[in-house]
Amino acid sequence: MNIAIPKEIKNHEYRVALTPAGARELVERGHHVSVQAGAGEGAGFADDDYHAAGAQIETDVEALWRGAELILKVKEPQSEEVARLTAKHTLFTYLHLAAEQTLTRGLMESGATCIAYETITDARGGLPLLAPMSTVAGRMAVQAGAHSLEKAQGGAGVLLPGVPGVAPGKVTVIGGGVVGENAARMALGLGADVTILDKSLARLEVLDDRYQGRIKTVYSTTDALDSAVRESDMIIGAVLVPGAAAPKLITRNMLANMKPGSVLVDVAIDQGGCFETSKPTTHAEPTYIVDGIVHYCVANMPGAVARTSTQGLTNATLPFVIALADKGWQQALRDDSHFLPGLNVHAGRVTYPAVAQAFGLDG
Ligand code: NAD
Repeated sequence: MNIAIPKEIKNHEYRVALTPAGARELVERGHHVSVQAGAGEGAGFADDDYHAAGAQIETDVEALWRGAELILKVKEPQSEEVARLTAKHTLFTYLHLAAEQTLTRGLMESGATCIAYETITDARGGLPLLAPMSTVAGRMAVQAGAHSLEKAQGGAGVLLPGVPGVAPGKVTVIGGGVVGENAARMALGLGADVTILDKSLARLEVLDDRYQGRIKTVYSTTDALDSAVRESDMIIGAVLVPGAAAPKLITRNMLANMKPGSVLVDVAIDQGGCFETSKPTTHAEPTYIVDGIVHYCVANMPGAVARTSTQGLTNATLPFVIALADKGWQQALRDDSHFLPGLNVHAGRVTYPAVAQAFGLDG
């Protein structure tokens, strides 16, 4: 199969969808891999590394897309990329369509088969292609939030671990899944006072058992959110309703009850955000202030640590890429009931129910 790896063009996105090691696996199976010149640069992989792995380096981006059957990307296609998609293409990437109506329409009109990383499932009910990037984003959230708490960033001037004689800062994490647990772990490591809110009692039980009381767990209710807003120096939004837009858990009115200079880190921004005042930001300008509260809402957090992220991501995607390349998308999805929910758009129709519902389409 002809497989293309374009260079990512989203603002400050440095990851690449395949490492040279991954390219070698595909080439050894008899596939043809074309990598856009410079695609791996941001993640520290040179064209020569891909060439040595048996891939072809392509300088003409139009020719790269034209010649491909399977296109591997990291981020959702930008408008100029959507314009290059046709019915002969299978696109395998993060899509996050539930919050992106224009993109969804564009993909439908292209006729392409679009398989999303984030809606593929596993036998334990997890999302195996979201997990590695959620781990990165969760760990980064505390790093970014701690920086935002500094005065120069508009923050309250709070040092999370405190110092002897001064209590540590309070961090509340809403959603105790992969992002939330990793954020909480980092905050705990920094010496903060950490609480996780979740709607799943089963998940809170796991976290309570794992951290033996060092992280407080609270069942997420409006009351619990009200208390978190009043007490926290930093709130990290890490909820997920798979394939659907994030619920708005902190409203603008609630900001008035926060301490001035507190920080909201909305990791769920890629699903529309879980705070009413969130809007997507970039690594170039990651924060903004509403009613005295610093908001950090970068939609592609792992892009800032591109090398670690690329390796983590491709470790997880490679088995699925190999299945697509070896069998073609129909057979690969038919053979694996966990791969099947990855199909989001095919032949002009949205095939993933939560996305279809979000836009009132019949699916
Ligand atoms: P996950 O499924 O592992 O965890 C989500 C948790 O949220 C679950 O434990 C669930 O019970 C809980 N939850 C759902 N609704 C809730 C509610 N109303 N109140 C409290 N808890 C609730 O998901 P994850 O992998 O941790 O991802 C979390 C979010 O982070 C997703 O929106 C994901 O897309 C996003 N994400 C963003 C970036 C980025 O760069 N900004 C990177 C990776 C992941």
